[in-house]
Amino acid sequence: MSILVFVEHHGNELQKGSLGVLSKAASLGDADVAAVLVGAGVRSLASELGKFGAARVYAAEDDALEPPLPQARVDVLAKVVRDGGYDTILLANSVLAADVAAGLAARLDAGLNWDLADVVSEDGSLVGKRPALQDSVYVDVGWTSEPRIGLFRAGSFDATATGGGEPQVEDVSVELEEHSRGARIVDQQLEESSGPSIEDAEIVVAGGRGLGAPEHFGLAEELAKALGGAVGATRAVVDAGWYPYAAQIGQTGKTVSPKLYVALGISGAIQHKVGMQSSNVIVSINKDANAPIFEFSDLGVVGDVHEIVPKLTELVKQRKSG
Ligand SMILES: Cc1cc2nc3c(=O)[nH]c(=O)nc-3n(C[C@H](O)[C@H](O)[C@H](O)COP(=O)(O)OP(=O)(O)OC[C@H]3O[C@@H](n4cnc5c(N)ncnc54)[C@H](O)[C@@H]3O)c2cc1C
Repeated sequence: MSILVFVEHHGNELQKGSLGVLSKAASLGDADVAAVLVGAGVRSLASELGKFGAARVYAAEDDALEPPLPQARVDVLAKVVRDGGYDTILLANSVLAADVAAGLAARLDAGLNWDLADVVSEDGSLVGKRPALQDSVYVDVGWTSEPRIGLFRAGSFDATATGGGEPQVEDVSVELEEHSRGARIVDQQLEESSGPSIEDAEIVVAGGRGLGAPEHFGLAEELAKALGGAVGATRAVVDAGWYPYAAQIGQTGKTVSPKLYVALGISGAIQHKVGMQSSNVIVSINKDANAPIFEFSDLGVVGDVHEIVPKLTELVKQRKSG
């Protein structure tokens, strides 16, 4: 099996999701694993990918490739796949990667399995695991032809250093298709944020309807700040306009797997659970002792968030300053 992983970067920062997919590919065992970087100034990022399991890195470096547009990336990946004879292309989902995967599937006449949460190698064949029936079960999915393309849910894998050495770096130069030069980015806005994003944070403090009102999200924010984490939310509060959609965790939001997940006033509906169940330690505070979230929490506190959270935040601050 020969696997090519599309590694996304923002500026000089390699995206954790892509690195997770790369380390997963390397863990599959008997596969040749390569990565591809596309953009301006990407060559300097290539050597880092060895640590995550890439034996070879293709660097398509060109100012014309700097805007994060999908079509030019389809041109690059199609050439690398054809020239290198790769039978499998894996990507971590993002707005850009989803478009690249779809375009590449059309260009290579390849099968694309999307929304995968895992992949395993069984008797030399790849089998994808995809959530179905509102994420209540996992189904096995496969490919009937090569090349095969897999697009993984954000946060499916940890970016684990595999102990690999220096990769072989190969420059790729691609003549872009006429239609790939048609689109241009006219404006880009960067979201202002303080602290880590919920996908990258090692600690997530998430608030639900149990906080009672939008202004009480300050409780979650204060605790997250004290712990050095990020704030997440349930769909119920996002739909109610209490917190921005970008913070929504769950089936129709983001998937996170921090070291610590603190749930404040969250019932633990299956659609929320699927977005956070792979967190290392789950701590929940809920006034209802029968709330479903306690069934999958490592530590459950039955009580009122308004009484407990300010004290907890104070304690965390004291510990940190002491
Ligand atoms: C197709 C579909 C997709 C969905 N996608 C998502 C998704 O991506 N993410 C998501 O989160 N949901 C999603 N949902 C919604 C999901 O089913 C739940 O409705 C939602 O997660 C509930 O949010 P909640 O826990 O904040 O609210 P509730 O279910 O209302 O729970 C509030 C909890 O707070 C507790 N509480 C109340 N007051 C206090 C207090 N003072 N102190 C402590 N505890 C208190 C209550 O006991 C209760 O357990 C989806 C639903 C559907 C149908």
